[in-house]
Amino acid sequence: MELLKKKIEQEGIVLSNTVLKVDSFLNHQIDPELMLEIGKEFSQRFANKGITKILTIESSGIAPAVMTGLQLNVPVIFARKRKSMTLINDLLTSTVRSFTKNETNEISVSQKYITENDQVLIIDDFLANGQAAIGLIDIVQQAKATIAGIGIVIEKAFQEGGQHLRDKGFHVESLARIASLEEGKVLFVSEKTSEVMK
Ligand code: 5GP
Repeated sequence: MELLKKKIEQEGIVLSNTVLKVDSFLNHQIDPELMLEIGKEFSQRFANKGITKILTIESSGIAPAVMTGLQLNVPVIFARKRKSMTLINDLLTSTVRSFTKNETNEISVSQKYITENDQVLIIDDFLANGQAAIGLIDIVQQAKATIAGIGIVIEKAFQEGGQHLRDKGFHVESLARIASLEEGKVLFVSEKTSEVMK
């Protein structure tokens, strides 16, 4: 998705060989117009999949997921990372090791929002080693629902998550695929290298 790649080139900050910071439009401040375009792109890529629900994980998956839900006209559920006083009964839970925060979270979703008739589209902001996606897949499978696909805003293709999920047969669509973050530069898969502004 060219618009997204341009935004990464202009505003992304390479923190290390494995971590890209995009706080100016996705992970802290949010660019609503870009999120809307992302929602349109996901809805096109997963059209005709009969999607009935979108599942993401708080907090950075919520904006792209909501915009996709708006386009597909389906509800959006986000897995919670923290215990909530109002979310206590009949939970589907899984364990996710956070790539960026170096902590393990028990994520949870109320089982009343995903049923066995649902075709679920999983959406997240980043795909690295695939732990967040695997946790969300686990929750959908516990609900005996079907995984219609996995939509990722930014995939770091040099990490193992994308390959692992595709090898398992999941339909993964990533809007920007990064081949490398070495030497402070973002190199997109099969595309040009761009110097990233610090
Ligand atoms: P995974 O579970 O695939 O290893 O990592 C994906 C999760 O970690 C995403 O939900 C995202 O929040 C976070 N993450 C992984 N890599 C990056 C990165 O390079 N930059 C940012 N901002 N978040 C990342």
